[in-house]
Amino acid sequence: MGENGGNGKIVRQILKDILSGSISDEKDALALLNASGRDTWEIAAAADLMREEKAGDDITWVKNQNINVTNICINSCGFCGFCRKKGDPDTYYFDEETLRRKVREAKARGVSEICTVSGLHPDFNAESYLSLLRLIREETPDIHIHAANPMEVWYGAKQSGISTKDMLIAMKEAGLGSMCGTAAEILVDDIRKKICPGKVSTGEWVRIIKEAHNLGIPTTATIMYGSIESPEDVVSHLKIIRDIQDETGGFTEFVPLSYIHGQTPLYRQGLSKPGATGRYDILISAVSRLYLNNFTNIQTSWVKFGTKFAQLCLIAGANDIGGTMFEESISKSAGATDTEYLDPEEMERMSRDLRRGLVRRTTLYQKID
Ligand code: SF4
Repeated sequence: MGENGGNGKIVRQILKDILSGSISDEKDALALLNASGRDTWEIAAAADLMREEKAGDDITWVKNQNINVTNICINSCGFCGFCRKKGDPDTYYFDEETLRRKVREAKARGVSEICTVSGLHPDFNAESYLSLLRLIREETPDIHIHAANPMEVWYGAKQSGISTKDMLIAMKEAGLGSMCGTAAEILVDDIRKKICPGKVSTGEWVRIIKEAHNLGIPTTATIMYGSIESPEDVVSHLKIIRDIQDETGGFTEFVPLSYIHGQTPLYRQGLSKPGATGRYDILISAVSRLYLNNFTNIQTSWVKFGTKFAQLCLIAGANDIGGTMFEESISKSAGATDTEYLDPEEMERMSRDLRRGLVRRTTLYQKID
């Protein structure tokens, strides 16, 4: 054991190997995730060096607006504080007029992206998703639409009796620019059965993501960690993501999402941890950077962490701070605070404080002056 309670020698050897060019394997990733004490900072520093090499010094952000159409959902994922059943007192559903108003607001704010995911409404079918895309397109021919995730694609297709491939083709034709890589949670079926039994299986998530990539629809990649999974499960998840990226190159970025526990059924029933610790959050960011050697962009989520901790992740492997959002309901419903809007001026302050530049980008990481 190292002097600080970890296995310092092993950690240092792994970091030396990775920084001298060897690709970290799953055993290395697991050893790093299990580190503690000052090893945590050494791993973060190594990830920061790799961030500099792969993504440069600029911290990037996107001006986007989030729209969650409804919180009515047929599923009951244990980590979700957002979903409601039809008939519950606090449901909402944006009708066409409200959606058009929100899209016009987004346009007036000068966003380059509209991001939309929602609950799985019992009345939704393929046409529901397509008409939402068409509505956004009608209002804003130029704004990039970042929408849906493999679960929504699977659900819309199933409700209309078509294949997920046909669903994706129709969505692309209707204006979909890229798909959200959410609904990944932890890509280990034993864990999925416990935290989100109604969601697509690991195999289905992977199949739909690859289908999208092969149709020229890029996606993000995510992980939702800190509920009931083990570090071994996190490593299995990262391996799946790295393998897909090797095969398709279709991921734009990797986004670690730390579990917000307060208002979730899993936590209230005593079935999950009260979220990840700060040490683990730093390590997830750093190990994602060190292990996912085929990713340029690792994002930190200010929505999950708040700006102070998100800034620390920007010196622990992350190079991107995500979007302005303007409105957000999913993390807020699970107990997160300050999830609505991040002012670019605050991003600028965070970046200046790290003596790094702040650069606005598009969804697909083209830099905007
Ligand atoms: S995470 Fe998504 S699919 Fe699961 S219950 Fe919440 S809204 Fe529904």
